[in-house]
Amino acid sequence: MSKLYIIATPIGNLEDITFRAVRILNEVDLILCEDTRVTKKLLDKYEIKKPTLSYHQHSKISKVDKIFELIREEKNLALVSDAGTPTISDPGSVLVSKVREEFGEGVEIIPIPGASALVSALSASGLTADQFVFLGFLPHKKGRETLFKEIVEMKRTVAFYESPHRIIKTLNSLKEFTGERKIVIARELTKIYEQIISGTPEELLKYFEENQGKIKGEFVVMIKGL
Ligand code: SAM
Repeated sequence: MSKLYIIATPIGNLEDITFRAVRILNEVDLILCEDTRVTKKLLDKYEIKKPTLSYHQHSKISKVDKIFELIREEKNLALVSDAGTPTISDPGSVLVSKVREEFGEGVEIIPIPGASALVSALSASGLTADQFVFLGFLPHKKGRETLFKEIVEMKRTVAFYESPHRIIKTLNSLKEFTGERKIVIARELTKIYEQIISGTPEELLKYFEENQGKIKGEFVVMIKGL
């Protein structure tokens, strides 16, 4: 029976990968990658020489057919994204769902746990993380304002992913809708310029205004619950 491994990879520091993940990447027949060039860096570091095939959110149905064919041939496959855990605001859920629909018990789908920016950020935030709401990436336009109005009512910690292009806009919205609520921002986790800062939206806006060089990299934004 074919196996499809869903493998978490590092979110910056290439050492953040498990022994099991490295072993399985060495054992599978093919690695499905969000971007083969990004995954190549990881494979080169661990001297993993395996064929790769790109699979991402814009992949055509013919790509899924190709993957089905490999599963029928009882090949073992690994799915990785550029960073972190596949399917968490990353490609893969459609594939996993289609493979389950098509093969049911006829394929083993095995998660290989590891890094995720969400869990890493929450773990160091100091915010309650026994219950939280994860919003992925916020909508750019439609539904954005409604979402902020919902966030302000939430009792649980709220976390979402943000890009450097939108972080200031988002902090302005948080200032408008949540006022004095405590925000924690985890930036560039596991990388050289890793930073975890907290404050009210206004304090954070002031910080980024005075430190424009820090509006760079990858962000997880967390909001203290009520
Ligand atoms: N699947 C990934 C995971 O499990 O973490 C998330 C992929 S999502 C496309 C990418 C977003 O995750 C970034 O825009 C950023 O918000 C967050 N992210 C990824 N790596 C990060 C890091 N090293 N530090 C902070 N946030 C990060």
